[in-house]
Amino acid sequence: MKFEIGNLKFMNCPYCTFADTRMKLHRHLAEAHLDRVTTEHDGATGKMRYIVACPLCGLKYQHAVKPRYRDPRFLEEFKAEIALVAFDQLLYHLEDTHPEVAEPPTAN
Ligand SMILES: [Zn+2]
Ligand SMILES: [Zn+2]
Repeated sequence: MKFEIGNLKFMNCPYCTFADTRMKLHRHLAEAHLDRVTTEHDGATGKMRYIVACPLCGLKYQHAVKPRYRDPRFLEEFKAEIALVAFDQLLYHLEDTHPEVAEPPTAN
């Protein structure tokens, strides 16, 4: 059972006690938990990617970084943007795989 008010679905942050609508949680993740997104650089191919792991089961979601993002300054600037894509995947995963955790505790 998910806690819903109208069309607004409330979800728990998997990293802290924050709970709000999916949209606000998505923004919260990118702002408060940007450090959960890690980078991996393939020395052979020169490709770079961002990885976000599910804190509940360890499943990893990857997001390839476009070659033009290899500029370190560019990368810094777009990390938040890339993290939003990664966290969106994580939210879908939480809804599908861990609905019992995504559901906030009953008020009071
Ligand atoms: Zn949080
Ligand atoms: Zn999981």
